[in-house]
Amino acid sequence: MSANPCLTCGACCASFRVDFDCSELESEGGRVPDGLAVPVTGRLVRMRGTDHARPRCAALSGQVGVKTACGIHEWRPSPCREFGERAPMGLADDACNRARARHGLAPL
Ligand code: SF4
Ligand code: SF4
Repeated sequence: MSANPCLTCGACCASFRVDFDCSELESEGGRVPDGLAVPVTGRLVRMRGTDHARPRCAALSGQVGVKTACGIHEWRPSPCREFGERAPMGLADDACNRARARHGLAPL
């Protein structure tokens, strides 16, 4: 299998809202730094920047489609773990390819 396509992509981190339960925040005993999340409603929080008109997670560094990295890869929230682990295994789905298309990248 060729190299992990996510390393030169990052499109999903600049396309979708990333919401998760506040129990994943450091202050609640989880691992996601509180400063990178914003409250939504009730126990729901959202990665900062992912609901902007042009979404881009505050933890993402680099240039989408060229070279990107998640600044909190080890501590990223569950939606990111579930989403990002599929593409490298050849299980890219519609959401992955929609994100890629949004950034002018070919489907996997
Ligand atoms: S999961 Fe898909 S959209 Fe996200 S970085 Fe990997 S290849 Fe890109
Ligand atoms: S936390 Fe990391 S993997 Fe999740 S959207 Fe942000 S940059 Fe992407």
